[in-house]
Order: sequence, then structure tokens, then C-alpha cells
Amino acid sequence: MSQTLNIQNLHASVDGNEILKGLDLEVPKGEVHAIMGPNGSGKSTLSKVLAGHEDYEVTDGQVMMDGIDLMDLEIDERSREGLFLAFQYPHEIPGVSNANFLRAALQARLPKGEEIDAVGFYKEMYAKMDALSMDRKFTGRAVNDGFSGGEKKRNEILQMMMLEPSYAILDETDSGLDIDALKIVAEGVNRMRCPERGFLVITHYQRLLDYIVPDVVHVLFDGKIIKTGGKELAHELEEKGYDWLTNELVAV
Ligand code: ADP
Ligand code: MG
Repeated sequence: MSQTLNIQNLHASVDGNEILKGLDLEVPKGEVHAIMGPNGSGKSTLSKVLAGHEDYEVTDGQVMMDGIDLMDLEIDERSREGLFLAFQYPHEIPGVSNANFLRAALQARLPKGEEIDAVGFYKEMYAKMDALSMDRKFTGRAVNDGFSGGEKKRNEILQMMMLEPSYAILDETDSGLDIDALKIVAEGVNRMRCPERGFLVITHYQRLLDYIVPDVVHVLFDGKIIKTGGKELAHELEEKGYDWLTNELVAV
């Protein structure tokens, strides 16, 4: 079985507007791929389509995760199969405490009849919160409810650390974080890098990639990957912007 997230010729629309226009991308396990691109190019659309957001209609193409056709799976099944998305704009879930939310998410992964070990769960959650410098009061607070932008982003990473996905997509996790929080979050991500896990790190700015150094950088523009390179591509984009690439396209 191929241990990779493979996207071929993906077309997706929202409200009848085509946003992804034939996107090809492959993230093998063990690698960190960054997606950069101007606002509105379809980065969040890609992440939501992969996660199975109902507003987005896939009109063509294929996404295979470790040999499984992702589009055949419901949202919760995708998660159980090992896909994780950290949202650009995390949702608030009033009335559900962070601890209960995480516990339910982990419980849902266990075989029927098996109960999560509460003591072990709290121990693990506290250790991971400590690693993210998150105060323990966040366990009792409703998920993201009234959290600041940076607190929400940290909470997304806590979810990722608890769920230990095979493929993690981080959509602009850097936005809303000050430099100290960014370093903490990046360290959390870096500690999770391993041969059994692939990352798709979506970011508008190169800054995050100083801390989460990617193996491969892709540029997404107008619903397609228009350039792929090594980590130095991110620095080139930081220096020169996106115009040199997009103008090249228009000229062709
Ligand atoms: P990025 O994350 O790269 O900034 P998005 O994927 O958020 O880009 O958006 C790509 C394009 O799709 C934009 O033009 C945006 O307005 C449009 N779009 C995204 N979601 C919706 C939606 N739910 N309804 C209408 N248009 C949408
Ligand atoms: Mg976005």
C-alpha cells in the first residue's frame, strides 16, 4: 500500500464557482510540504475539500490516502482513517468543554465496547498542554469559545497532538500568533514529525517556514499548483512576491 496522500486533477466548486481547477499534489508520509499562494487562490478550499466540508463539491479528480479513496468517506471516517485539519478559522463549540471534546474524539477511534482510560487521558492531555504552554484552565472551557486568535490556533495544535493523525493539514496556523506563540506551535509540530506522518502546511507568509522547515514548497495560484521547489522557494517568494510567477503564467 502506498503511504502517501495523492491528489490528482482535483476540481472543486462552491456555489457553482470552480475554485480548484485541476490540482495535483503528493505528500508522502514522513515529509512536510508547504503550500503558499496569494489570498483567494484556493488554499483553504483545498483543505476543506480534503476534510470533506459539505459546501464544496468535487466535480473531478481523485484523492487517495494510503490507497483509500478519500472521497468515498464521510467526514468522521476521514478523521478516523488518520486525516486531520487545523482550521484557518477554528470553530467555537459553546457548551462542550475542551477536555470532553478531545476525549470524545479519541473515544470515537476505539473499537466498540472499549473505554478510554480517564487517568491516562488526562495525563497525556496535560503533558501536551504543557508542551504548548497552555494553561490548564483551557481544559474546562468550551472549545474555542471566547478564545483569542492565538489561543484557538494553539488549541488546534493540541487537538492534532492528541489525535496523532497520519496526515495533518495546517491552514494558516501562523496567522494570529505572535512570535513566541509561533515558536511554541512550530516546536509542537516539529516534535510530531516522523516517518509515519505527513504534513501539509498552508501559509501565506514565509515566516512560519523558518521554524517548520519544509521538505517541499508548492505555490497554489488560481486553483492549481503552479510551481514546486525546495525550501529555498519560500525565501524566493518572500523576497520577490508572487507576481514574477503569476505574470509568467499570464504571459504563456
Ligand atoms: P485562500 O485560502 O487561498 O485565501 P480560499 O480557498 O479561501 O483561498 O478562497 C478561494 C476563492 O474561493 C476565493 O475567491 C473565495 O472568495 C472563494 N470561496 C471560498 N469559499 C467560498 C464560499 N463558501 N462561497 C463562495 N466563495 C467562496
Ligand atoms: Mg485561506
